[in-house]
Amino acid sequence: MFKFIKDIIAPKKCYSCGKEWHFLCEDCFEKIEKHYFFDEICYVCKKYSKNFEVHDSCKNYSPLQRGDSWKAERSIFYDKTIILTHYKIKLIKKLVKDFKFYNKKDIAEDFWELLIEKMIKHMPDELKTFKKQDFIVIPAPMNFFRKLKRWYNHSEVLAKYIALDFWFKFEKNIIKKIKNTRQQSKLKKENRLKNLNNSFKINKNKVDIIDNKIIILVDDIISTWTTVNEISKLLKEYNPKKIIVITIASWY
Ligand SMILES: [Zn+2]
Ligand SMILES: [Zn+2]
Repeated sequence: MFKFIKDIIAPKKCYSCGKEWHFLCEDCFEKIEKHYFFDEICYVCKKYSKNFEVHDSCKNYSPLQRGDSWKAERSIFYDKTIILTHYKIKLIKKLVKDFKFYNKKDIAEDFWELLIEKMIKHMPDELKTFKKQDFIVIPAPMNFFRKLKRWYNHSEVLAKYIALDFWFKFEKNIIKKIKNTRQQSKLKKENRLKNLNNSFKINKNKVDIIDNKIIILVDDIISTWTTVNEISKLLKEYNPKKIIVITIASWY
């Protein structure tokens, strides 16, 4: 009971320095950024790429050529990735866990503010060239039962914040999850693709709105890139101008 009252009256405190009003304050986030060097890279080859664009040559890479044991050849269907930070950082891991598993929804606000800054910084061309109505924000879908268990879809919470901030259209019913796939992060790499096959479906009644738009695909945490790639693959069939993946943290 005491804890309950305390939670209500106590303001947010930075997990790292204890300063009030944020769970992760800007100063502490800046320290993380400096320490871990968030170079602008293409997340497929991990080499330099301005504003995190995926190199054209990396969209059709063959894992075999890269000495990867993963047998399947694949293409990359997203065009750009904006990742706030890395999951391997202890402090981030703790914040994300509290956000995801202990329903501290407020943590999303801090992540969202920092993400918006990063988006503005690394989407200069898109934001300058296109109008607000050229963008659509889509959250990665969550299975109904998992949503029940966790109370809400974290990607959806974040996606809504982002859409509101930029005045972009928010659309959550384009992609549906149809199979209760085992959690990707718990599987071996070669089983991940199998696990995902046909686990998403696109809503044919909604696909017209994707045409010629810039899609902001929001996934709260990316443990493997297979999920967002599968979703991007479905979306790409309906001619979006570009797919930008946005996430709080990736595992690698
Ligand atoms: Zn702090
Ligand atoms: Zn590349």
